[in-house]
Parts: sequence; C-alpha cells; structure tokens
Amino acid sequence: MQEMEKYIEEEKKYHLQTYGRLPVVLVKGEGMYVYDVNGKKYVDFLAGIGVNNVGHCHPKVVEAIKKQAETLIHTSNIYYTIPQIELAKKLVNLSGLNRAFFCNSGAEANEAAIKLARKYAKEILGKDGGEIITMENAFHGRTITTITATPKPKYQKGYEPLTPGFKYVPFNDIEALKESITDKTVAIMLEPVQGEGGIHVADKEYLRAVRDLCDDKNLVLIFDEVQCGMGRTGKMFAFEHYGVKPDILTLAKALGGGVPIGAMLAKEEIAKAMGYGDHGTTFGGNPLACSAALATIEVIEGILGHVEEMGKYFMDKLETLNKKYPFIKEVRGLGLMLGMELEFNGGEIVKKMLEKGYLINCTSDVVLRFLPPLIVEKEHIDGLIKALDEVFSEMNNK
Ligand SMILES: *Cc1c(COP(=O)(O)O)cnc(C)c1O
Repeated sequence: MQEMEKYIEEEKKYHLQTYGRLPVVLVKGEGMYVYDVNGKKYVDFLAGIGVNNVGHCHPKVVEAIKKQAETLIHTSNIYYTIPQIELAKKLVNLSGLNRAFFCNSGAEANEAAIKLARKYAKEILGKDGGEIITMENAFHGRTITTITATPKPKYQKGYEPLTPGFKYVPFNDIEALKESITDKTVAIMLEPVQGEGGIHVADKEYLRAVRDLCDDKNLVLIFDEVQCGMGRTGKMFAFEHYGVKPDILTLAKALGGGVPIGAMLAKEEIAKAMGYGDHGTTFGGNPLACSAALATIEVIEGILGHVEEMGKYFMDKLETLNKKYPFIKEVRGLGLMLGMELEFNGGEIVKKMLEKGYLINCTSDVVLRFLPPLIVEKEHIDGLIKALDEVFSEMNNK
C-alpha cells in the first residue's frame, strides 16, 4: 500500500495536475486484465478509453513491436519505410477511401482533416470562408483548433482566442444542420457514435441525410472515428453500419494497439489538394507504430463477429439493470461502445467499481461508459453486471 501512495505523491509533485486520476498505479496488463503495483487484479471495461481493443499486450502485437524494435524504430518521412506503405494500403483497402496520412494522435488526425478540408475548398472548389460545422456533445481533441471544434465550455475556457471558423449544431437534427449552412461553409465534421459526449449514436436516416446534404452543397463530410472506429462497434468502421461513406475519416486510439498513432484517410479528389510540403510530422507513421497497427488490424479483423455477439449480450444485461433501477435513465450504444445514463453523477460508482476490481468510466458527468477490449467474454460481462448490481442496490438501500 505504501508503495502506491509514494508513487501517487510523486506524481502530484512532478506532473502537471491536469488529470483527476483514480488512486491506482497500474504496472501490468494481460488480455482483459490489468494489475496494480500491489498485485491487485482488475477487469478492464475501459481499455484505455477505447485503445486496447485487442486486449492488453496481445501476443501478436507484442511480437510485431519486438521484431520491429530490433529492426528499425524510426527514420524520417524524408525516406520511404515498408510498414508505413503496407499500413496505408491496408487502411485504404478496408475503408474504400484512397489515401492515408499518419500522425500521432486523434487530435492531430482531426487537425489534418480540418486543414485538408479547408485547403480543398479554397484551392479546388475556389470557396472562401473555411467554415466548419460540428456537433453539440462532440469531442475532437485538445489542440487549440480541435477544442474549437469541441463545443464544451470547460475545454475552451481560458484558451481564447480560439481558431475562427467553427459553428455548432445539435446532433441528429438535420433541419438545424441545413439552416446553419452558409456560403462560407466548407465541411461538416461528426462522430457517427459520440464518445466523450455520452455515447450518442447517429440515427440512420440522419447520417444518410447529412451525406446527401454534403453532396448537394459540395461540402466535405468528415467522420471522426477516433473512438468508434477499429472494430469498436462490430464493424471495422462505424460508418459501415450506415451505408454512408465520409470524404475524410480520422482514426487513432485503438489503431496501434496501444502504440501512439493516428491516421487521416481521404478520397482522391480531396487528397490531391495537399501536395509536397503542405503537411507533415516527425513521428507520423514511423515503422514501430505502423508495425503495431498492422498486427492490431489483423487481430481485429478476426473478432468482428465476436464484437457483435458480445455487444448484444452486454446490452441485454444492461437493459435488465435499467428495468430494475429507476435512477437509470437510458442505456444505449453500438457494438461494444455502450453507455448507461444516470440521474446523477456517476463518479462514486466508478470508484466503487474500482474497489470491486472493475475499471469503468463516467463521461459527461452522468453517463457510465463501457468500452471493454473486444476480446471480452460472457463471463467478464456477467461479473461486471453482478458487481454493478451490488453497487446499485447498496445505493438504493441508502
Ligand atoms: C479521444 C478522441 C479524440 C482525441 O484523440 P487524442 O489521441 O486524445 O488526441 C478525438 N476524437 C474522438 C472522437 C476521441 O474519442
């Protein structure tokens, strides 16, 4: 116990205090489980916020990282490297888009998408203004521009002046979107399933109408699948549930199996707006990250059916709790991206679940969020539901 406290004290002394962390120091992970410095085992239903989709330290990913680490870890994008070429080809083939650009995070992938959409509109369509419409409850990252795309006062406050040219509309409201479009609008950016905003799933008719609207008005449609992509919803990309394809797609989180990597994929017509020297990054798509991503994708491809099955099983179990406890407002989600909205702040429940050996999370204050590794089995779900049931009934009896 003392060892844990010592580390926590040092973090509080030396790290910028931007993370309200839970009081646990994790040292090891394997599959569905992580272990703290005292050896306590936890079942992970958060997966590093949708990063460890193939579970912790998946042997195939570890092997790929080891092999690449012994061969070539990094070289500049001034040169060609084989894993990067292979990963670009793989993602293009999977998505049906035409070109990939690699970076190091979700925020950077969205930055690239925003830059590309503006450049395309200006230089190919000859359209000035560069205005981009994003959604209420969206989350697109923490750079100055991506917090501007994220209309949450808490994330923006104190960082002004923000990037000009952003406008917000309610999610799943096609009329509001139509009304907000002006001569300056160049792109619409959204998450098919909103993550940080509280697990809100786009309606089918809505996404189709957004696609039609973009075609009609010559607007770039950007899907941010940083959280809902990479098998999370039971398809490799969430947009596959809708029969709607974006012009630009952004990925990160689970893409590298835990190794930092982001990607922006784009249609040819749009991609050609960026030429030599127009964008770049030192680490983006380095051999280590790309090898990890290639191995990760291979594992995800093999378990998509399992995700669908487990997602349905999990949702049914959450529905049972929903019927039992009146303070649960709604359960919702797609595949293994699930949320349970409560009538109160869920922070205490997260702490109690931690004590019981389960990692879950609460987002947007009142939504318990479940993003287990995609390798989750029924026994893990049963265990989590039992623990939640216990925590809820204790609360009910107070
Ligand atoms: C996490 C997230 C981001 C930001 O990714 P970072 O890697 O933290 O920069 C962007 N969009 C969505 C939908 C996310 O969930």
